[in-house]
This record gives sequence, C-alpha cells and structure tokens, in this order.
Amino acid sequence: MFLMDLDHDACYRAICHRDARFDGRFFTGVKTTRVYCRPICPARTPFSENVTFYPTAPAAQEAGFHPCLRCRPETAPNLGAWRRTSNTVSRALALIELGALDEDDVDGLADRLGLGGRQLRRLFRQHLGASPVAVAQTRRVLLAKQLIHETRLPMAEIAFAAGFGSIRRFNETFLALFARPPSDLRAASNQDVSAGPHGEISLLLRYVPPYDWPAMLAFLRRRAIPGIEVVTANQYCRTVRLDGAQGTIAVEPGGENALRATVRFPKLSALPVIIARLRRVFDLAADPVAIAAHLASDPALAPLVEARPGLRVPGAWEGFELAVRAVLGQQITVVAAVRLAGRLVAAHGERLAESVGGLTHAFPLPEALATTDLASLGMPRSRAAALSAVACAAIADDHLFDATLGLDDAVLRLRSIRGVGEWTAQYIALRQLREPDAFPAADIGLMRAMASPVVIRHPNFLSEPRRGARGAPMRRNICGHGPDRHRPTWLASALMSPIRFGGTMSSVRLGGIALVLAGIVARKLAPR
Ligand SMILES: [Zn+2]
Repeated sequence: MFLMDLDHDACYRAICHRDARFDGRFFTGVKTTRVYCRPICPARTPFSENVTFYPTAPAAQEAGFHPCLRCRPETAPNLGAWRRTSNTVSRALALIELGALDEDDVDGLADRLGLGGRQLRRLFRQHLGASPVAVAQTRRVLLAKQLIHETRLPMAEIAFAAGFGSIRRFNETFLALFARPPSDLRAASNQDVSAGPHGEISLLLRYVPPYDWPAMLAFLRRRAIPGIEVVTANQYCRTVRLDGAQGTIAVEPGGENALRATVRFPKLSALPVIIARLRRVFDLAADPVAIAAHLASDPALAPLVEARPGLRVPGAWEGFELAVRAVLGQQITVVAAVRLAGRLVAAHGERLAESVGGLTHAFPLPEALATTDLASLGMPRSRAAALSAVACAAIADDHLFDATLGLDDAVLRLRSIRGVGEWTAQYIALRQLREPDAFPAADIGLMRAMASPVVIRHPNFLSEPRRGARGAPMRRNICGHGPDRHRPTWLASALMSPIRFGGTMSSVRLGGIALVLAGIVARKLAPR
C-alpha cells in the first residue's frame, strides 16, 4: 500500500528516541502485537523489521492494528487536513469531522465535493493511506476511547456521544478492536457518573505547540458579542444552539499542549460536531512547526516568525453567525460592529432557558432575520437589507457555509448575495470555510501591512499576495511547496501587522493575525 513518503529508517530513528516532534505525524504499527502507537510510546521499541509506519491513525486501523492502551493514539494532536494533501481531501476531512459520513455515504460526500466516489476514495488512499469510511470510523473509536479515559460517562452515553448510533455497534466495534468490551478499558476505580441534564463533559483538545493563546483570546475578546460570548482573563465562553437544543461551552488552557473544553449541552450526540467546530475556532489542526519552518526561509519573515511563534488563524463557530458579523463590520470599527451585534442579539436572539454568567441568548437564526427590518437597530438601510439577504440565502441553501467545491466557487456563491462583496466573501471563506487560498485582498489592514517597510524591501511579497487572491501566483512564489503551501500567506501577512501598527503596546499585542484578519485597527486608522 502506498504510504505517502514515510521513510522507514527516519521514522524508526524517531521512535527509538521517542521524539515528540513526530507526534501526530505518523503512527507505528507493531506487527507482533497488532497494536499501533504514537512515536513517543513508552513501551519497549520493537525491532525495525517488526514495524510498519502509517501516515494517519485511520490508515493503521484500516490495516488491522488497534490503538495502543499505553500511548493512546487518540491523544496525539490531530493534524487532520494539515498535511501534504490536496485541497479536496482537506475539505472532505473537514466535512467528515462535521459528521458528513454519519448522514450520507461516500458517494454523497464526493458529490458535494464535485467528484465521483471512486475518485475521492483514490485521493484518500493516496494522501491519507485510508478510505473515507475508515477515517470516519477511526474518528468515532478514538473519540469514544478518549471519553472512556477522560470522563466518567457511562458506556451507553459514550456510545452516543461518539456517534455510534447504537450501543450494540459500539460494543461490537470495541470487541473487534480490543478483544474486550469498552468498559474493560476503564480503570475499575473510575466510577460512572452520568453527564446529567445539562450533559456537562470536560475534555482535552490537543494541539502541536507552540500555541499563542493570549493572541487567540485577545482576538476573541475584542469581538465578543454581549449575551453570546464572555471572555474572562483566561477563558472563552459562548452559547451554543444545535439541533434545536441550547447549551454553553467554555474553553481554557488545559495543561500540556491542550485546551480544556467544558461542554454543557443536553444532546450528547452533538459532541463530535461541537468538537469539530471548536477545532476550527481555535485552529487546532494547524502545524506551527511546518509553518514556521516554511516562513523562516524568507529572510524578511524569519525574525517575525521567531518573535511571534504559534499564531493561529481564528476560525468561526458557525457560518451564518460569521457572515452576519462580517456584514455588520463593513466600514465600521470592530467596537461599533460588536455593539450593533449585541443589539441584534438582544432583539432577535433566542433567550436561553437559563442564563449563566452573562450568557443570555443564542445567536439569532436566519429565520429570525430574514423578514425583519433591521435598520431600526441603527445601521444604514442597505446594510440591513444585506443582512436579510444573507439570512434568506442561508435558509435557501443548507450548505451555503460548507467548504465544498473550492474557493472560487464559494466566493462566487457568496457574492451572488446582495450586499456581499469580494472582501466579505473572502473573509467568510477564510474563517468559516477554512479555504487555504482565501485572501481578503481589499482588507485595509492588509493593504497597510503591505505598505510596511518590510514589504517595501520585498516587492514580490507585496504584489504576490494581492494577486494571490486568485491563487496561482501566490502558491508559486510565496508559499512554494510543502504541506503549508497556501495558508501561511495569511500568517505572513498577519505577522507583518505588528510592525505596521506597532506604535503602542496594545496594538502590538492585539496585532498579528487578529489585527489583520478583521482589519480592526486598520479600519480605525483608515482614511474615510
Ligand atoms: Zn503505544
């Protein structure tokens, strides 16, 4: 079987040294025990001829190996789409994470991506070493295993929370993989405690370090919508509405290379989607090591990357919410946009049955905004009309904010909505669709960053990202090759902003990615 370009000897050296840098980058199948391990497994290193290396956990699992109980492959950082994969595979992985194969089959998924089922299977085989079904199945098994070890939920609740659909399937899968029922994997002392009426579950979301948590939190704090989000000194909290149910989540640093998410939600079956969205918001699949290595090859960027390691691109919780934020933010400051969003939420949001610590509402549904005259909230009539148009489009197309056919298609689709221009569409593509080539070139923050001294010394850098909005030149020159060939442009641009806006401490701290992404300070400084 083709296994990407894993070099056996290099991988073997890594496992001999239990080299943590390789965690999440490959898995070791041990032929004698039929177990698969992380590179850092504390167990005695097997002989070289007894191991096979796999690029992903699903590949190892599909080859008949089961997850090691000592190194727990489910706790390796999940680099997911962040590989040398095609954009199509990345989009497919994101959709699978969000449950696409729970509701549809592989052909249906392929159809959404604009290709045939056979073609999609071939791409998965080529880039991940596993089939789409194996990816979905492994995801369920690993989530269940994490919940067994990290929570005290009863097995029946875990089965549903991990997306197994039935307890029987859950038991059968674990018996086949581990030759024992799932309950045997839990230490005897660990008594079952039900999630309770609010379904509170606390679990760790791992990432590859470094992670600039203060920058991420500052970005979210500045945009926190009253009633929906509360950001304290070290924690992000927000309300959640999914499948007709309400809840809240809180995220904070969770020890070594992980964030701790506390989810209070009555429907346990929504947990995989909640996790996938949190991974998007906090950009947990990014590979900062690859990004830094790549950007550091540019002499202008090297010192900036070194000064601000671990910056992430904050994603969106939900597409409609992000689109509303983007439209509200057109031509006004972030502060003003947030104030307006707060009024919108108070007037049209769904009140929580039970408000906690400043969290009072769920974000308004498209249905609540589609036919309402929003101009009375204090915005120009044209912007109010644009919001209603976005709401109508969201109602008409369930997949409006899904990554499917690629950037050009998404931008075209979004731009067909009245009041959504190129910048807004690219912004949505960047933060919600996670399109690696998305580039709101008209962003005033970016334009100013491009005029910075660093960029002037590197005229190509200035022009390429701007043209790069449509892809090709940027890919070739800026982000040349490797797993990170597209998205780092964003980081690169972002990294420049502290220089451009570095006059005060606060703008430096708020700077970087957060600043440029939404162009906050930029808007404030921009000549009208
Ligand atoms: Zn192991």
